[in-house]
Amino acid sequence: MDSNTDAQRMEKIVSLCKRRGFIFQSSEIYGGLNGVWDYGPLGVELKRNLKNYWWRVMVHERDDVVGMDGSILTQPAVLRASGHMEGFADPMVDCLLTGKRFRADQLEPQQGWVLNFIGAVDFDSFNSLVKEQNFPERSAIWSRVDLAPLLRQIFTNSSWHVDEKRRIGYCHLHDQFVERKEALRALIAERIFSASSLQPFSAMDIVGDRNSVTLSDARQVNPAIIVAQEFYRKRGIRNPVVMLTNLQWTEHSTRYNPENGSLLTRPREFNLMFKTRTGPVEEFDQSAMAVSAVGATGPAAPIAPVTASAAESFAQTAGTSVIAEDTSPAATTEDASVAYLRPETAQSIFVQFKNILEVSRKKLPFGIAQIGKAFRNEINPRNFTFRSREFEQMELEYFCRPQRGMELLEYWKEERLKFYENIGISRDNLHVRNVLDEERAFYSKGTYDIEYDFPFGRQELEGVAYRTNYDLKQHQDQSKKSLEYFDEESKERIIPHVVEPSAGVDRTVLALICEAYAEDEAPDEKGNMETRTLLRFHPRMAPIKCAVFPLLKNKEPLVAKAKEIVNLLRPHMFVFYDEAGAIGRRYRRQDEIGTPFCVTVDFETLGEKNPALRETVTLRDRDSMQQERVAIRELVNILTSRLH
Ligand code: ATP
Repeated sequence: MDSNTDAQRMEKIVSLCKRRGFIFQSSEIYGGLNGVWDYGPLGVELKRNLKNYWWRVMVHERDDVVGMDGSILTQPAVLRASGHMEGFADPMVDCLLTGKRFRADQLEPQQGWVLNFIGAVDFDSFNSLVKEQNFPERSAIWSRVDLAPLLRQIFTNSSWHVDEKRRIGYCHLHDQFVERKEALRALIAERIFSASSLQPFSAMDIVGDRNSVTLSDARQVNPAIIVAQEFYRKRGIRNPVVMLTNLQWTEHSTRYNPENGSLLTRPREFNLMFKTRTGPVEEFDQSAMAVSAVGATGPAAPIAPVTASAAESFAQTAGTSVIAEDTSPAATTEDASVAYLRPETAQSIFVQFKNILEVSRKKLPFGIAQIGKAFRNEINPRNFTFRSREFEQMELEYFCRPQRGMELLEYWKEERLKFYENIGISRDNLHVRNVLDEERAFYSKGTYDIEYDFPFGRQELEGVAYRTNYDLKQHQDQSKKSLEYFDEESKERIIPHVVEPSAGVDRTVLALICEAYAEDEAPDEKGNMETRTLLRFHPRMAPIKCAVFPLLKNKEPLVAKAKEIVNLLRPHMFVFYDEAGAIGRRYRRQDEIGTPFCVTVDFETLGEKNPALRETVTLRDRDSMQQERVAIRELVNILTSRLH
């Protein structure tokens, strides 16, 4: 990921999206559902404009592409053939302290001092032993001949730090870790501690300095020790003294939580598909509905997130009435009611290939396009809508003869880049990444990722992949139905190859908003310069195309004329009528939501001052703030020519 990020800009964008009704957190009044979003009145317009333009360019303006709209609920057999059942998994790791889940391959490598612990014992027992060691004859424990050598093993050549007030501490065992652990084990077996744990743990001091490490000084205790204390506290030792062994300087490690330094679990494969059931399902195990994202029989999150915030808890649980896929072997013996929410739109295109070929009578090369919802139980939904659990895709499967695969991959990459420029995304902010052999799906002969410079870094907007004929072949093999194409040129039956441009609606909407967000200076009512926030959407994408204002709301002829103009424009574009507040404020409100044009009806329109200006209005441009005088009868032509 690009390190060039701008968190402040992103915060402003997220806040604007909520304030002006583009995007809301789903189920917000109930605390939200992580990774799921609702689009408000303006967001839905922006999204529709994007989808309609994609459809126009990819389907309506071409002779060689037809559309389809497939179902979301998908037969398991489809996803078994496509490889999603076996292979659609991400490696995940959990924080041993908070239970927060991360995608192992997305962790930034860390460096710092790693502190290793062999366990912990309770403060009161430990502190009494410390105090009594100087008077062993008076101590019921130190005076025992069987225990004293074990105690000496722990306390000799060790250093400790106890906080009497908070009843917490650490004991640093400097050497002989194996022997000392055995001694501790024996003491624990003799029940000399009222609480104890021998679970090993380690934590990284992530802000550590390579040349020195401080365990504690007058002001503070090393953060890795605090993390360890918290770890053992959550395992039942209310007031832990943690048993520290060695410390190691460690680099390029992804074993520790970058947020708190706690050790993470080893990576486990986590299937991203949502599983559900169709029809009456009496035998459905209700207890499975409440399980964590790991699935009914998968390993539970290592510990309950006792202090995790509501948001963190949401990040850890994904199952509602749909259950995250279970990758255990038993899961392969599914009954007939099992279905999946599709993880991509592409598979329904492949499965309907034969039907569509027959009804459309297309010849190779030709494509099938689809826009629709897809669902992935992402381990770590993040960056606003960028990585969601429910999202929309715009996919084209473009079928061709094998000889043309690589050439069409280049063709579609260029077409898609043009598309983004045509919706107002600057070429400078778009990047093509040639996905390396080892990163590509094994069946793909070439893949490009089209990336965008989001404020949170450079990230994928769309993948353009040459998938060979893998999918159709798989479905033909598994369904035992022919998916062949009779090539009249060569008189051969072939299974066509396919090039797939696959874009995300939500990611593109987010890119449009990020690209459009701007701040500049504009005069307020009194002529003083103030900061203006605006969305410089391409007019094609802008949710509202034109706002119409009467200069004053209490002057009936102005209001009537403005409403007449609204009716004139409405069949051609989405317009918005506003009569509330000072005219400057009304302009500012439209700037902030990206309306490219504003029309104002004033006294000149009525011909009160200059008859030559009768039936004219001011047309204001959002970006330049320039105003021009145009005849009402010209308005439709002028605006439609600027919008398309
Ligand atoms: P990533 O590597 O970011 O997870 P991907 O390579 O798995 O994405 P594809 O399977 O190629 O994504 O899906 C095609 C497109 O669908 C992506 O380029 C993206 O625009 C969109 N998409 C995929 N996953 C998500 C998601 N979780 N949230 C929003 N959009 C997504």
